Amino acid sequence: RTSWKRAQCIVDEFRGGCSTPLSRLRQIVDNMVVEMHAGLAIDGGSKLKMVLSYVDNLPTGNEEGLFYALDLGGTNFRVLRVQLGGKEKRIMNQEYKEVSIPPKVMVGSNEDLFDFIATELASFVASEGEGFYLLPGQQRELGFTFSFPVKQTSINSGTLMKWTKGFAIAETVGKDVVEELQGAMHRSNVDMRVAALVNDTVGTLAGGRYEDDDVMVAVILGTGSNACYVERADAIPKWRGPLPASGSMVINMEWGSFTSAHLPKTEVDDALDADSVNPCDQIFEKMISGMYLGDIVRRVLWKLAAEAAFFGGKVPSRLEVPFILRTPDVSAIHADQSPDLKEVIRVLRVVFGIQSSTLQMRKMIVDVCDIVAERGARLAGAGIVGILKKIGRDGGSLANNGGLENHSYAAAEERKKTVVAMDGGLYEHYPKFREYLKQSVVELIGKEAAEHIELRLSKDGSGIGATLLAASHSSFV
Ligand code: ADP
Ligand code: MG
Repeated sequence: RTSWKRAQCIVDEFRGGCSTPLSRLRQIVDNMVVEMHAGLAIDGGSKLKMVLSYVDNLPTGNEEGLFYALDLGGTNFRVLRVQLGGKEKRIMNQEYKEVSIPPKVMVGSNEDLFDFIATELASFVASEGEGFYLLPGQQRELGFTFSFPVKQTSINSGTLMKWTKGFAIAETVGKDVVEELQGAMHRSNVDMRVAALVNDTVGTLAGGRYEDDDVMVAVILGTGSNACYVERADAIPKWRGPLPASGSMVINMEWGSFTSAHLPKTEVDDALDADSVNPCDQIFEKMISGMYLGDIVRRVLWKLAAEAAFFGGKVPSRLEVPFILRTPDVSAIHADQSPDLKEVIRVLRVVFGIQSSTLQMRKMIVDVCDIVAERGARLAGAGIVGILKKIGRDGGSLANNGGLENHSYAAAEERKKTVVAMDGGLYEHYPKFREYLKQSVVELIGKEAAEHIELRLSKDGSGIGATLLAASHSSFV
């Protein structure tokens, strides 16, 4: 029989291990800022890669012409075409197609992956119809959104540092992903030039900036998690090239690999990490992103079953299956207002094949979901405040600023509105997660400063952003 005392003990212990009081969040913010500095100083200076994006100009609105984008970054990939009409006409036309990547392609061969992508792109190009037109003599051009850690070597080249989010194709690591794509496009007879290689966060930033000049930061909370922001070029010691005319450069943080001794990590997280395809890596991502939240919950439920006979004498076999519980199920459970917790009943039955449960058990399961989501959201919020602090937009610079001139300068900076473009299925579809995140930002920087910060859902901005960056780096227009 279920040992309620033991079960409550497991949940309480887990809650304690996951707790994110303000004091702890502040330490994480400070760690984030320190790591950002270290990663900007030299390559390898920090777990935070702080990748130079080679994007030193964000969209202005003047971009014009037909451009394609291809977004590879998670479970789905998307191809997109946009007809840009300049300042007046803006986005005149757009079309996209979404394709899910067969799991075996994610862990298969390099050539198969890129051939799969190029083939889908070929069929999409073949369907180009009315409303899309190239200038005479213009070759089709593409912005390649590739959301894995890449060591960027120019605006349209970069080598893969490692796969994440369940992709594992050893051959690709160290290769220039643009060359790989260009080669596969050649094999598939797609006549197209890759004009820009962009991380999805950079695409989201570009897409956001096209709409609003106040966008300074972009954050993805989807299958994985990452962030980028606009940095002053003279604050990037490891940048050896000439200072760009704009004076700034977008930095792709690769924040998924952030780690800190202050992260509230539990033995459940350690076990998830040990069983993952990339152990000891992407620790921050494994606590905050959509790929993992569901599995953290599953692992706690497994513990309840194994150690407190939560579902009877035997552990239901499907509780043992990694990733069987998905984050959308967690958010559905979390959103359920029904008095008898129908969503929990549904998830237990459909996902785990568990037919009976009591209300007391279901309440406990909701609790576990709440603990995991709250922790993830608050950590993501701390990460965002770290970035705001690094660029002096957190409202905190007045306090430690002595000089009068600097004082008024800081005050002016602070009054500026700062928009953080947010994208990703987790952020978009999980209202409780959004609330917890926002709440942590307000707690960290204070209510007044938070009025100048807007977290704005920038849905699918990264695809449009990639076409905009292809346009601004075109060889033809
Ligand atoms: P990707 O990150 O793969 O590019 P998305 O940004 O669309 O794609 O994010 C998809 C992820 O978002 C899913 O893996 C899932 O973890 C999360 N997600 C999707 N729907 C929901 C939902 N209803 N509630 C919570 N998370 C969700
Ligand atoms: Mg994505």
